Amino acid sequence: MTEDEEAIVEVVARWVDDEVRPTARDLEHADEYPERLIDQMKQMGVYGLTVPAPWGSSSVSLRCYARITEEIARGWMSLAGAFGGHSVVSTLIARFGTDDQRERYLARLATGELRATMALTEPDGGSDLQAMRTVARPVDDGYVITGSKMWITNARTAGLVALLCKTDPAADPRHHGISILLVEKGPGFTVSRDLPKLGYKGVESCELHFDDCHVPADALLGGTAGSGFAQMMAGLEVGRIQVAARAIGVARAAFDDAFRYAQDREAFGKPIWQHQSVGNLLADMATQITAAQQLNDHAAACIDTGRRADMEAGMAKLFCSEMAATVTLDAIRVHGGNGYSTEFDVERYYRDAPLMIVGEGTNEVLRNVIVRQAIGRGGLR
Ligand SMILES: Cc1cc2nc3c(=O)[nH]c(=O)nc-3n(C[C@H](O)[C@H](O)[C@H](O)COP(=O)(O)OP(=O)(O)OC[C@H]3O[C@@H](n4cnc5c(N)ncnc54)[C@H](O)[C@@H]3O)c2cc1C
Repeated sequence: MTEDEEAIVEVVARWVDDEVRPTARDLEHADEYPERLIDQMKQMGVYGLTVPAPWGSSSVSLRCYARITEEIARGWMSLAGAFGGHSVVSTLIARFGTDDQRERYLARLATGELRATMALTEPDGGSDLQAMRTVARPVDDGYVITGSKMWITNARTAGLVALLCKTDPAADPRHHGISILLVEKGPGFTVSRDLPKLGYKGVESCELHFDDCHVPADALLGGTAGSGFAQMMAGLEVGRIQVAARAIGVARAAFDDAFRYAQDREAFGKPIWQHQSVGNLLADMATQITAAQQLNDHAAACIDTGRRADMEAGMAKLFCSEMAATVTLDAIRVHGGNGYSTEFDVERYYRDAPLMIVGEGTNEVLRNVIVRQAIGRGGLR
């Protein structure tokens, strides 16, 4: 990263310590939408991190984007989730959008005045995207959409949805019939239900319905039908780096709390870290987190150099999320009974961590991606 980027990460880290960490527990337990913190993120330029100039003024490398995400997730994972899908949609429009789509959306996305989300998953499944049932039927002046989407983050607060759907359900191979439509709220589009969750509180995850929802022809991302699957797979590389960074942030918070606690708490006349079993937990946590940071940094650096990085981003998301699940449970172990108390933050980290195993492609599906890539490349190249 450049010196400027290091300085930006520092500013965000200070904001997390001063503004986020003191309030996150209460907001989370109240399941309250963190309006003030989101406004502050907009002011800091977080919503524009993946929007290039001339539309945005806070664009950074993906390595820096990952580090910023990590810091924010260290404060509260939900805040990092609140701009994850938005960053992917911004990337999609910047990379694949028509000139008109870039002009129409990117400047407002950069400030957060307009927020975006992506809608892939459906009630019948999210892993097998090519089996999706949401259809956008071509008509004279655009498309008419019918179908449902599930688990869509920020669906109420977002004014723009990058909708993955079938514009040609009969296409063979199936992915040639998939497109992305840039859909704004309007007749026929309902956000029907907020889904109850284990963690990731404060931001909404919703079910969407499209019931003969009409969109104009220029809603088609890039203007060419049938490109949506490939476009989304490229965008998801950014999404997977972001989810990996969220996992690292949560794990770092868990480690920091456990590290402090193990020095303050005494048992059998000495700080508990001096009991080898507890010291070993801390050593393993620190090692795993450091390895995860290196792996995600490597994946982000690959994308920064302009390479496709399905395998690297997949590995980072897989490793970092599994690491976070282990580290957050170990942080509970270090805290003993207090680890199970809602008066300590470790229980939140433990509830937040599993989302990163499931979101942005489950780890099982990512293992399929990694092995296919490795075979295709003839090994680890
Ligand atoms: C809080 C939250 C927020 C989310 N936000 C969004 C969002 O903003 N936008 C969005 O589009 N989606 C979002 N999702 C959805 C998420 O991406 C999906 O849940 C995920 O992709 C898995 O899809 P599924 O739940 O339908 O599981 P399924 O696809 O039904 O999978 C069930 C199980 O089968 C396994 N499996 C399926 N296929 C294979 C295979 N080929 N090989 C090995 N194992 C397999 C899976 O790994 C999993 O263990 C969110 C989910 C959650 C929980």
